[in-house]
Amino acid sequence: MVNLDEEVQSGDWAAEKHVPSIEIVSKEDNKVDVKVMVGKEIPHPNTTAHYIEWINLFFHPEGAKFPYQVGRAEFLVHGASTDGADTSTIYCEPVAWFTFKTEVSGLLYAISMCNIHGLWRGEETLEL
Ligand code: FE
Repeated sequence: MVNLDEEVQSGDWAAEKHVPSIEIVSKEDNKVDVKVMVGKEIPHPNTTAHYIEWINLFFHPEGAKFPYQVGRAEFLVHGASTDGADTSTIYCEPVAWFTFKTEVSGLLYAISMCNIHGLWRGEETLEL
């Protein structure tokens, strides 16, 4: 059986460029705004050959049996150019915003996918 602790790598987002960082930007009236990104401290390459494919954000409320998937961001453009000219080439940055309401505190965690270096996770406690 697959060992998810080995399969989904982790670390300190400030030292490892693949670990998604989770920033709780505001939590007024139990409405939580969260910014999730890969490469906050050490930028991850965003090239045609090497890029972040997606980030999923989960929330596990205190006392809940299972987590909720809050949302998912997909980064679909990695060097596309409609006319072949370098001037119009587009690259996605792996940044996403999520907003949700909750009555309880819990654990936020994000899982991201690099097309070369696989799955990575990061987490942040949400205290209301
Ligand atoms: Fe990578």
